[in-house]
Amino acid sequence: MKKCVLVSGGAGFIGSHVTVELIAAGYDVVVADNMSNCDMTCFEGVKKITGREDIPFVKMDFCDMEAVRQLFAAYRIDAVIHFAAFKAVGESVEQPLKYYKNNLISFMNILESGCPNVLFSSSATVYGEPEKVPVTEQSPRQSATSPYGNTKQICEDILQDTVKASGGKLRGILLRYFNPIGAHPSALIGELPRGVPNNLVPFITQTAIGKRECLSIFGNDYPTADGTCLRDYIDIVDLAKAHVFAVRRMLDDKMEQGCEVYNIGTGRPVSVLELVNAFEKVNGLKLNYKFAPRRPGDVTAIWADPTLANEKLGWKAERSVEDTLKAAWAWEKHIAGK
Ligand code: UDP
Repeated sequence: MKKCVLVSGGAGFIGSHVTVELIAAGYDVVVADNMSNCDMTCFEGVKKITGREDIPFVKMDFCDMEAVRQLFAAYRIDAVIHFAAFKAVGESVEQPLKYYKNNLISFMNILESGCPNVLFSSSATVYGEPEKVPVTEQSPRQSATSPYGNTKQICEDILQDTVKASGGKLRGILLRYFNPIGAHPSALIGELPRGVPNNLVPFITQTAIGKRECLSIFGNDYPTADGTCLRDYIDIVDLAKAHVFAVRRMLDDKMEQGCEVYNIGTGRPVSVLELVNAFEKVNGLKLNYKFAPRRPGDVTAIWADPTLANEKLGWKAERSVEDTLKAAWAWEKHIAGK
């Protein structure tokens, strides 16, 4: 019998790509989302890409424990991949309770469901400004600089503690994402930021299409080769595939620890300016950009040592930054109807 994976927040950017890859790998998937930060565009795209009109979709809020109980009663769920969370750093500073309530309660409700395999989407933000790069999973976590970042750390701890206390009944995996970018090569699913994008690549593509006048590059006086920040940009399809490897490891009983942690990145640092130049080059256009002051809270340089994920999960990032930036641009044109 096929194993069934619940993808909470499955209508969003990462969740929709993960759903596609899970289905391609032969899993049944239930998608659940409260649609607070997206519309049905990506879920419709998932159905087109997979050719599956029958993917179950449940509109629900994971903060509602009764709804969570009903969901688990209605479907035989073998594993959960949890994405349903608020993710805007700035908003989390202004409305901390909104973030703590939503991001923590929804995750605790999932753990209370008693599902034996839980994968949590964490973030490289837990490393703060690292003393040494690249960072391994052993690199120290730094205290979070925003309530959003803090919810990632707290959820990591909640999962670790709950696995420990479960006496082997619960297995957990924490995936720490670096900077997910791009879109599905079909251009049927991708990132749909509401309002002004916070993240670099959606801002680049929206500037290129004319929705934004000019990209501000935040800081060109950092101690890096070209003065701009260094990040590890990971293709969204590569990132999605990492989840399939991780779920398989849990469901095939291959885990060596109750709760395992993996960096999901390329291991390759790219500066903001390099990314902008690569976008211009592969897509044959000129981007209107200017240098602006540093953005508070940005770290100078962070990239992953992905060796553990390469060795234990058997996963490796494969797509080039160039292909990823082409896909991001194709998606922007698709949503603009061009
Ligand atoms: N960035 C920028 N202009 C923007 C958005 C982001 O220069 O409009 C820079 C930001 O300072 C950082 C990098 O792009 O160095 C990646 O930022 P993003 O918000 O995408 O991800 P983060 O690394 O902050 O999670």
